[in-house]
Amino acid sequence: MDKFANCSVCGKLFETGNCRSVCHECIKQDMSDFDRIRDFLYNHPRAKVFEVSNNLDIPVPVIKRYLREGRLEIIEKNNRFLLCEKCGKPICSGTQCDDCHNQSPHDYKSFYNSNITQKKQTRISYAPLGK
Ligand SMILES: [Zn+2]
Ligand SMILES: [Zn+2]
Repeated sequence: MDKFANCSVCGKLFETGNCRSVCHECIKQDMSDFDRIRDFLYNHPRAKVFEVSNNLDIPVPVIKRYLREGRLEIIEKNNRFLLCEKCGKPICSGTQCDDCHNQSPHDYKSFYNSNITQKKQTRISYAPLGK
């Protein structure tokens, strides 16, 4: 019943009850960082990403992750900070612009289908090595 995984933030081994990839301590840290960013943006609605980072002492990649996860949004449409992973156009949050997002379901499906058979064949090599 117990399932363990390495935390994708700090790399520590932890018990994963519900498909999470981040350990409890990092989630707590993550939430408090996020709250601080939200409060800061509430008081400084047009703050730049580096201003948030400097004032709160939160690394820029962390803020970028919130943007990628769609938890934060950039107001500026033509920002040079968050770009579509496919075509490189500036986006406000997430990983892809609207155009690419609308196209991707088809791509994803065919990729996913062709991947299933491959995964079965190479399954053995995915067995975790003892650490
Ligand atoms: Zn962690
Ligand atoms: Zn795009």
